[in-house]
Amino acid sequence: MKRDIHLVVLLLSVIGCSLASLTLWKVMASRERALEDINTHGLNLTQALSTYSEGIVRQSSMILLGLVERLENEGSGPAQIERLSQLISRQQPLMPQLSGITIYARDGRWLMSSNRPIPAGANSSDRAYFIHHRDDPSRESFIGLPIRSRSNQEWVITISRRFNDAKGEFAGVVAVTLGVENFLHLFGQIDVGRDGAIGLSYTDGSMLVRYPFREQDMGRNFSQSPIYTKYLVDKSVGTASFTSSLDGVERLYAFRKSDHLPLVTTVALGKGEALAAWQLEAQLSLLVVCALLGLTGTIGWLLIRAMRRRSLAEGDLRVAQQQLLDSNQQLERLAMHDALTGLANRRSFDQALAREAGRARRNGGALSLLMIDIDHFKRYNDTYGHPAGDACLHLVAKRLSACIRRPPDLLARYGGEELAAILPGTDSAGAAIVAQAMLDSLSKEPITHPLSPFSRVTVSIGIACTTGSELESEQALLARADRALYRAKDAGRNGVQIG
Ligand code: GH3
Ligand code: MG
Ligand code: MG
Repeated sequence: MKRDIHLVVLLLSVIGCSLASLTLWKVMASRERALEDINTHGLNLTQALSTYSEGIVRQSSMILLGLVERLENEGSGPAQIERLSQLISRQQPLMPQLSGITIYARDGRWLMSSNRPIPAGANSSDRAYFIHHRDDPSRESFIGLPIRSRSNQEWVITISRRFNDAKGEFAGVVAVTLGVENFLHLFGQIDVGRDGAIGLSYTDGSMLVRYPFREQDMGRNFSQSPIYTKYLVDKSVGTASFTSSLDGVERLYAFRKSDHLPLVTTVALGKGEALAAWQLEAQLSLLVVCALLGLTGTIGWLLIRAMRRRSLAEGDLRVAQQQLLDSNQQLERLAMHDALTGLANRRSFDQALAREAGRARRNGGALSLLMIDIDHFKRYNDTYGHPAGDACLHLVAKRLSACIRRPPDLLARYGGEELAAILPGTDSAGAAIVAQAMLDSLSKEPITHPLSPFSRVTVSIGIACTTGSELESEQALLARADRALYRAKDAGRNGVQIG
């Protein structure tokens, strides 16, 4: 039973551990999958947004290239500027992201503005892009940091080119302004959640546009962010996960550096938010598993308790069964034995005699019967008292049983101080030897009996022998033994007679 309980515990533990580890494995695998999906999604987004941004910058550069070409070939006199202004007013509606085109003279004065009349005294010689072109002979486009437009106070990004005069000297700057609002409008249509963000920045980490819009981030340098210090160092496209030093939110980042332009597009999603669906699924799985484990544990506990109870009940039953067997045996002993001498009683003697007589009849074997009576026992009682007589009777029974050696032999108390022995398979000679041995055993260790002529306790024995074929009734055999016993008494007692 203990082994069974151990087996049940083992089985339940195996089931519980398998269930728990399988669920854990499944939950962790689905987390990995969720993260992979988020990263792929982020990378796809950076691809689309980067293509969009690059397109705008390229278109702007193209327009600028055309304008520079004209300014350098035709000059920047009022007539030429007027013609350019008309050209621009036709081009501008084709590119709605473009909020304006401005031409500056070599001293920063505004020569033309596509949006509105030039404010009196407008000068942009202090702008970073102007200073860049004035001081750098490069003919490439320059993407400037976001600034507030002097014409309408909106945040704009400038893309500008320098134009030279006939001598190749700096003659001015043509700049396209792109409203940050346009980018924000597009970025805003993408769902990045509460903690998410989309950023377009310069490769040195300067922020050009960030959604959600935050005034303080415009033009801010993020070069110390892990994206720039760690990830963009050896990769131009990739994903990352780290906690923002600004707001302490852990985010999943997808970043992509433009192949041809110094631009980096970043899409960030709040990790907790992105994994919320997975978290819910994991919590549900864990809940179900906990419930299953609890159920398994409870069933196991009930099972083990039932097994223990059954084991206890079986133990009690076994004890009760043993007690019953013992009392049955005792009852049987009491029913078949004589309490004083411990010998078989008369009932048992009668059954044994019938059984052995039947057997002798069947196999034709010999059967002898001894009737034994203690001599002058009345006198013994008279001398020593009844209790001493009982003790004497007990002692005589013990001595005489020692003379009965074969397993089928039986010595019984026939009644009073009379004993009887059944000796199956024993003929008269054998029976006489047994009877003599009985007399001898009493003489060897005498029991004092002053009123006996032998001064000790003696017995008289009558023997009746038969064979299966000659066997009369058991009563007749008994009577014969009895008669022989009387003859032994008559012959002076302490002797044996065969009848
Ligand atoms: P004998 O057989 O030699 O002729 O003499 P006896 O004295 O034995 O004669 P009898 O058979 O007539 O008496 C038997 C006596 O045995 C009677 C009774 O007092 C005594 N007796 C019988 N059964 C018991 C017993 O269980 N205990 C005791 N103490 N005495 C018994
Ligand atoms: Mg007697
Ligand atoms: Mg008698």
